[in-house]
Amino acid sequence: MQTARGVTRHPTPDHGITDRASGIGHRALMGRRLLMLGPPGAGKGTQAEMLCRAIGIPHVSTGMMLRDHVERGTDLGARAKEIMDAGDLVPDDIVIAMVEERLSAEDAVCGFLLDGFPRTRAQAEALDHVLGSDRPLEVVINLMAPEEEVLQRILARGRSDDTEEAVRTRIAVYGEQTAPLIEFYEARGLLTQVDGVGGIDAVLARVVAVLAA
Ligand code: AMP
Repeated sequence: MQTARGVTRHPTPDHGITDRASGIGHRALMGRRLLMLGPPGAGKGTQAEMLCRAIGIPHVSTGMMLRDHVERGTDLGARAKEIMDAGDLVPDDIVIAMVEERLSAEDAVCGFLLDGFPRTRAQAEALDHVLGSDRPLEVVINLMAPEEEVLQRILARGRSDDTEEAVRTRIAVYGEQTAPLIEFYEARGLLTQVDGVGGIDAVLARVVAVLAA
């Protein structure tokens, strides 16, 4: 279900997706406060969407929220569009405020999956602050895909910010600002690596498998 603000809610778990993709049935999944990391084009959005539908948690995608602002023509959208089209990062304070507001909604109390946030160390630290000690992150999934694969996927996708130059910038920005978060979460014992190469259902099965208790 898509709400007017670009926020996807999945109030009812759809176990069918979990079953189909993994064959693990209705076994409990470990952790419901999740974060998905990975390079642009690794398939985070697709996997996040399916996983959230499967286990009934909200999908919190800063990219989707920002695109929604652009579509609705808000002031924030007007500011963000140019930055997004160039493949750069929208300022931390803007995305942090969006995530803080979204995570304070009632449906995020029992779980959520963050996709595309945090992308910088400052965002990761702000997230810690927002979550506090009563609902810390439980699992960080690092969806891995080689550069040739992500480039092909992005070019096939054809989004408005998928020009060759913007894509090159996004990949460079990912390497400089976001990839260091892998180590940040690994040091806390939260990181789990998932191979993102393969069909959508095969990758989802791997994601579900690492979350299965
Ligand atoms: P995505 O849909 O996650 O690929 O994000 C699309 C674009 O939105 C990115 O290239 C950035 O310009 C912007 N964006 C999304 N999430 C963030 C974030 N956490 N911090 C800064 N910019 C972001």
